[in-house]
Amino acid sequence: MNIVILLGAPGSGKGTVAGKLAADNANLKHVSSGDLLRGAIAAGTAAGNEAKGYMDKGNLVPDALIAQMIKDVVAESEQSEQSNNQTILLDGFPRNLAQAEILEKMGAPVKSAVLIDVPDEIIQDRIAGRRTCPKCKAGYHVKNLPPKVEGICDHCGTALTIRKDDNPETVKDRLVVYHRETEPLIQYYSGKGLLKKVDGMTGVDNVAAAFLAAM
Ligand code: AMP
Repeated sequence: MNIVILLGAPGSGKGTVAGKLAADNANLKHVSSGDLLRGAIAAGTAAGNEAKGYMDKGNLVPDALIAQMIKDVVAESEQSEQSNNQTILLDGFPRNLAQAEILEKMGAPVKSAVLIDVPDEIIQDRIAGRRTCPKCKAGYHVKNLPPKVEGICDHCGTALTIRKDDNPETVKDRLVVYHRETEPLIQYYSGKGLLKKVDGMTGVDNVAAAFLAAM
């Protein structure tokens, strides 16, 4: 088992690219920290209840809370039968230097960190059009990646929803948090010789292909 970290601002396409690659390649597994947290909130767990207030404001949840969830998923993957040739596409974790150090202390075999590069001025527009399937977690965009039937998930027929933290005010806060907390990871992984970069402005299929080649 090894790990590829997805780096990039909210709305840069990390979830879309990782979801597509995992759907097309049996040995790739998409693990999204945001989905884990939203799942915990939906299930009403203690961790979910604690995370909710931070997420609604666009702030990061406490490191220990999300780190425990990631540890559990990594341990589960290590024990699975396909573990030997499985790659985890880790989307949304680490989100700051402290989390990167936690991941390193876990002995997680990080193969590369791939930055999906999208200018800030594009992000608001991207997020405004974002729609998500609350059931199977598939992601869409009203312009860039529309479902076949407006408002309905192609895969499971569920009505698509807008994430609560995708409103313009919260997105501004999330971008501030990204630049302050997460961007230093670019330097961190570059220093370890693990950083790759792909242009996030070339369309989903091209970004996914470039990502696969880079990782
Ligand atoms: P995402 O789905 O990756 O955009 O994450 C949505 C929200 O979940 C973020 O704005 C944070 O509040 C929280 N979150 C996700 N991943 C992390 C993380 N690694 N550390 C702290 N908070 C996180």
